[in-house]
Amino acid sequence: MKELLLKLHCLYEFTNFGYPELVFFLIIFFLSVNIKFMEIKVEVLRLKKEGLVIKDVTFNSIAQEVGIEAGDILLKINGVKVKDILEYKFLIADDFLNLVIKKNYGEEWEIEIEKDYDEDLGLEIIDPALEHPKRCHNKCIFCFIDQLPPNLRETLYFKDDDSMLSFLQGNFITLTNLKDEELDRIIKYRISPINVSVHTTNPTLRVKMLNNKRAAEINRQLKKLAEGGISINCQIVLCYGINDKEELINTLEDLKRLYPNVQNVAIVPVGITKYRENLYNIEGYDARKSLELIEYLKPLQEKYQRELGTPFARLADEFYVMAGVELPEYEHYGDFEQLEDGIGMIRFFERNIMEDLKALNFDGKGKRLAFITGESFFRYLDNISKLIAERFNLNIKVYKVYNEFFGEMITVAGLLTGKDIIKQLKNLIKEDYIVIPNNMLKADEDIFLDDISLSDLEKELNVKAIKVKYTGEDLLEKIKGEVI
Ligand code: SF4
Repeated sequence: MKELLLKLHCLYEFTNFGYPELVFFLIIFFLSVNIKFMEIKVEVLRLKKEGLVIKDVTFNSIAQEVGIEAGDILLKINGVKVKDILEYKFLIADDFLNLVIKKNYGEEWEIEIEKDYDEDLGLEIIDPALEHPKRCHNKCIFCFIDQLPPNLRETLYFKDDDSMLSFLQGNFITLTNLKDEELDRIIKYRISPINVSVHTTNPTLRVKMLNNKRAAEINRQLKKLAEGGISINCQIVLCYGINDKEELINTLEDLKRLYPNVQNVAIVPVGITKYRENLYNIEGYDARKSLELIEYLKPLQEKYQRELGTPFARLADEFYVMAGVELPEYEHYGDFEQLEDGIGMIRFFERNIMEDLKALNFDGKGKRLAFITGESFFRYLDNISKLIAERFNLNIKVYKVYNEFFGEMITVAGLLTGKDIIKQLKNLIKEDYIVIPNNMLKADEDIFLDDISLSDLEKELNVKAIKVKYTGEDLLEKIKGEVI
């Protein structure tokens, strides 16, 4: 402000304007800037309506080869006007393409492309629909977002329920905000697989759990999608005494009737944070309840294994960890389709590390590494770190960080915050490196849930961070790259 006043004074001195003229001049100036801004905005909207704006072109891709550039507009593929990214993905799955592109300087190009059926063009598209994802219309009794503390970044409070995000990013949707025409569109464009939060197939119970009368439609909707050839991954957030026991068995039997279109069912425990106040009374899972569930479900999983060749319904790792029992073998998890839901994560991680222990060879020269994890994974990571340390001449200490931010019932590594790590490990870490799994950080930015950045963490703990995939796939390669 001080600077602005100084500049105004200089302008006054320099131009010999009186202050009234100066104020008049400034009003005109700001108005013209705003009008310009509106023109730009209108132009962008118009372009989006015309086609899809190309945000970026991958280096060495087909698109780059034929001269498409960022800022161009994709108008048509094989004579069809491209309305959104789904239509784009559907239309490019062809051997021969005829593209109509509007260059950023206005000229229209028609481009013929011959490619392999599943080969990508290398275009990054701006889809207006993705900038405004569909909002969820439910009020689930177990919603994790309702149990978040205040003052987190705004995007964490956004409740999306968008089929496009389900297809593109793997988000789970409830189908409660989808009309039949939209289901038809999913079938037409083969938006498959989609991830559906089912929770229960009992219509009355589902309406109660999701607090939405449209939730009763689930059986008809799933059947329609399955008959339309769509593959569906299902999820059940299990709430003790609500959708478990007989309700769970009935749900699984209903879903099994839609196999193989319903490919699998992930059963995850309800998350309860310390901020759960004035909400539906739900009990979290503990050792006893988890063990009861594992034993209750086992005969049904064995039956499915005999009948379908897959256990079909799989429990999240957390249940086994809480119950203190052995996890199922690696083969139990098939193709690990629901890893992000914590289904088979530990076995997948172990297998990746064991393979790299055989494949890699380097001398870590006794370098000291700190591995960070939550309570759930601590025992497994501690065991495996001993093998890594011995094999590569490293000193590894595994630190268990408690989730003070969300409360004691949240034990997974992916929900740890930067502040908890700093608070609990400050003056404790003596290692040269701290190894951080990427699921503790935002997907597109190195910040924790509480906006602490990875570089803040490095400064506070006076240690260099190594960011690795939480699946263990690049853990040893990354360590090797840093220490040798
Ligand atoms: S659908 Fe998801 S985001 Fe929406 S209320 Fe239910 S749990 Fe929360």
